[in-house]
Parts: sequence; C-alpha cells; structure tokens
Amino acid sequence: MNLPDFLLEMLNDQYDKKTVERIVEGYSKDRYLTLRVNTLKTTVKETELELEKNGFEYEKVKWSKEAFIIKKSNGNIRDLEIYKQGKIYLQSLSSMLPPIILNPIEEADILDMAAAPGGKTTQLAMLSNNKSHITACEMNKIRAERLKYNIDKQGATCVYIMQKDARNIDEFFSFDQILLDAPCSGSGTLNKHSFENTKYFTKKLIERSIKSQIALLKKAIKILKPGGELVYSTCSILKQENEEVVKKAIQGTKVEIVPIEFEGMEDIPLLPTSDKKIIYICPTELYEGFFIIKLKKGAKCN
Ligand code: SAM
Repeated sequence: MNLPDFLLEMLNDQYDKKTVERIVEGYSKDRYLTLRVNTLKTTVKETELELEKNGFEYEKVKWSKEAFIIKKSNGNIRDLEIYKQGKIYLQSLSSMLPPIILNPIEEADILDMAAAPGGKTTQLAMLSNNKSHITACEMNKIRAERLKYNIDKQGATCVYIMQKDARNIDEFFSFDQILLDAPCSGSGTLNKHSFENTKYFTKKLIERSIKSQIALLKKAIKILKPGGELVYSTCSILKQENEEVVKKAIQGTKVEIVPIEFEGMEDIPLLPTSDKKIIYICPTELYEGFFIIKLKKGAKCN
C-alpha cells in the first residue's frame, strides 16, 4: 500500500515497528458494515428477527447490545424497512464509543459540538431515552441539513440544532456534558483507496485540523460547567491531533483526564499509549482507527 512518506514518518515516530505494521495492515483491509439499533424506535430483538428474515448474517460485540456487525449481506441493507424507518443507523463501531464513554445523563444539558451527520447526536439522544437536552452544533449549512434529516428520521426529539461555528458559541451558555468529535485528518480511516485518486490527505490538512481542534477544545472547556465532563474524540491516530491538542488546551486549567472504563472494553483492538487513561483504537477489518479521551472540569474553577 502506498502511504505518503510523511505519514509513515509520523507513525514511526509515535509507535514501535510492530505497531506500525499492525496499523498499515489495518489500512489494507475492507471494513465490515456495522450498525447501531435505534432503541428509540425498535428493539434489539426486532432487529435480529428482521435481519434474519431478510437473509443477513450478523455478529455482536461485548461492549454494546445495540451494535451489530454484518457478516454476510443479502442485498443492500438500505432497502430494508428497518433502515428506511430509522430503526437502525449505519455507524462504525469506533464511532459508537464516544457517546457510550460520555454516558449521557437524563435531564443534563449536553453539547455535541461538531455534530453532522449526527450518528453520535442521535446515539446520545437514544442513550438518554430522549430525556436529556442536546444542542447539536454544526458549522456547515449542507451538513446541518443532513443532521436535521437524521435527527428527524431517528426520532431524536430532545435535540436542538445550532448552525454555527462552535468556536464562536457565546460563553453565556454552559453545559453539563460535552462531546467534541472534532474535525480531523482522518488518519485512522485510511484504506487502500485513499491514495489512488486523491491528494486529499496532506500535511496541510493535519496542520489545519490541529489549529481548529485546539480552538474548539479550548472553547469546550470554557463552556463546560464546573464538575462537568467532556469527551474529545477524532478518527485520527496521530498524537499531534490528539494528546498534544489536549495538552495545549488544558494547560493552565483545572481540567483532568478521567480514566476510561466500560464493560467489554477488552474486545477492542487498542494501540499502545504512554497514558493508560486514553484510548487509541487500531484500524482493523472491524474498527476504524480512533482516539478518545475523557476530561473533567474541577468543581470550582474555569
Ligand atoms: N460527530 C459526527 C457524527 O458522529 O456523525 C461527525 C463529526 S465530523 C468528525 C466533524 C464535523 O464538524 C463536520 O461535520 C464539520 O463540518 C464540523 N465542523 C468543523 N469545524 C467546525 C466548527 N468550527 N464548528 C462547528 N462544526 C464544525
């Protein structure tokens, strides 16, 4: 596989040789289709029956009863009624983890800061049984329309859409919980097709992403209520877009890293890290490469 030299250098700088080989191997795989059952509209049991009735074979994961891996398709899953009616949402496994780790609380004021197309927004609504108050912020107008479409289709009635650059959110607002699934280079989601026709993955893209990640995270910390929790995630596995962004953004604040723990975590292909509290997911045929960190703001600070 033809990876750009600068990417290989960055990976070799961050990971040992064996790990870089694992990552490159992961890039070369075609990933299985995965989906999340939308329990606002259906049940896990109904989904299992519908998939079986329509000749789809699936497997489950340990860490979520709503997550399905489609092992064998029988036609296009988008033709199934459960898809058309918003009873399932096609979502990568890695992308289902940040909302689970944030663990939305019923009645809480929650900000999803970079929300479109809304996989995680609708999952937050689902996990809080539509009983939290979610503000879903998205800067891009067309993507905000897609976000609205998905929110309506999934029956996520507790969501208010804010079409705005999240870096300019008024500090008059404050939130109990924030998800910042930041715009990134996508270095965790590359595959063998990524470099064939496109010059999209560049050093400049990484630099631009870092700038906006730092600005977004600094803003998130400002508008997080004292005692509140924040999850920062990206689909990049480069420390420059992740740990280093977090380090810069929390400098001089009383924000601390909270260890990530949940049932079934041992099922996830993790990459080695310098800090046991953070998660890097290795790209594989099941998972996209991803980074997740959970932060908590001290009870009396800014
Ligand atoms: N969380 C989404 C999901 O799970 O469906 C995916 C989010 S995607 C990684 C990042 C999104 O952030 C893009 O839709 C992008 O348009 C938006 N975005 C980028 N910069 C932004 C900013 N400054 N303010 C608000 N949204 C922004």
